[in-house]
Amino acid sequence: MNSNQDQVRIRPARASELPKLAELVRGRLPDLMKPNPATQRDSIRKHLAALLPDEALLLAIDNRKLSGMAALDLDHAKLLAMYLDPKQARADTARQLIGRVEETARGYGIQRLNCTVKPQAWAFMERMGYQATGLPDDNQPVDLSKRLFDEASDWEQQVARVHRELGIPANYGVKHRLKTVPEAQKRVSVGLDIFNRDTELAVAAADAWKAMRVDARQHDIELQLVSGFRGVHYQAELIRKKLASGQSIDRILRVTAAPGYSEHHSAEALDLTSPGITPLSQEFSMSRAYEWLKSQARLYGFRESYPNHNRHGIEWEPWHWRYRLNFDPRNR
Ligand SMILES: [Zn+2]
Repeated sequence: MNSNQDQVRIRPARASELPKLAELVRGRLPDLMKPNPATQRDSIRKHLAALLPDEALLLAIDNRKLSGMAALDLDHAKLLAMYLDPKQARADTARQLIGRVEETARGYGIQRLNCTVKPQAWAFMERMGYQATGLPDDNQPVDLSKRLFDEASDWEQQVARVHRELGIPANYGVKHRLKTVPEAQKRVSVGLDIFNRDTELAVAAADAWKAMRVDARQHDIELQLVSGFRGVHYQAELIRKKLASGQSIDRILRVTAAPGYSEHHSAEALDLTSPGITPLSQEFSMSRAYEWLKSQARLYGFRESYPNHNRHGIEWEPWHWRYRLNFDPRNR
């Protein structure tokens, strides 16, 4: 037996697990449903389902059994509820679950996390770095909060500094439901973009891109690179230029991701165009290239990140495609 198999694994909940989780919440976590205590099964499920795309519902899995669960309310920067199975949970499960919730919250740019706990959990939460926000009463639930930013990495602090400098609102990540994207360190050149700049991608994304371009050519479609990897500094410079040209930050952020939050940092995102099309324009959505990508790109692991009416409130970017490792391997 590998010792890793004995460890608690923390991961986001999946849609297929919702019926069981809803049952658990109904029986054990009435607090999670506070706005409507008489909640029925279906609405609990809906409530939990709303947390899935943001990876805000986290599970502790121990030997394939659920040993704990925690939820993050992004809009209120609140650790919502925590459940530990008294039989399955280990001493460390709560600490790991809370740590992962904090990591997720920091990813959305949340700098202070709040929670309300029963008096008996207060001492534990204090050890986790949470402090009472008001004058606590021994018999009442206690309001606590923790400054997450103190534990942010150098990179996260650097991103926050750039945001302050550019006047990007502190709730940017939460509002757009975007998480920070670390800069990829391992990158390879995939040749020149249409502006004759050297373009870099992560190794797997580079291989997939080359294979996809060859396949497209065989269907008489020419895919051209507009942009691949872009770092935080580059993204900040892009926004500085737009600010200097008189655009408001709100307007800019509808079409340009904030530094630290661009998928291009991952070196797995591509901006594409085709001959005769104005790069980075909606015109691309009418092209044969786009039509081909819509049906074929997923076979190479590429997905359109910001389709029309996406949940991030970002304008449609038909040219922007992101490589993901769990691509559909059929036809490869
Ligand atoms: Zn892009």
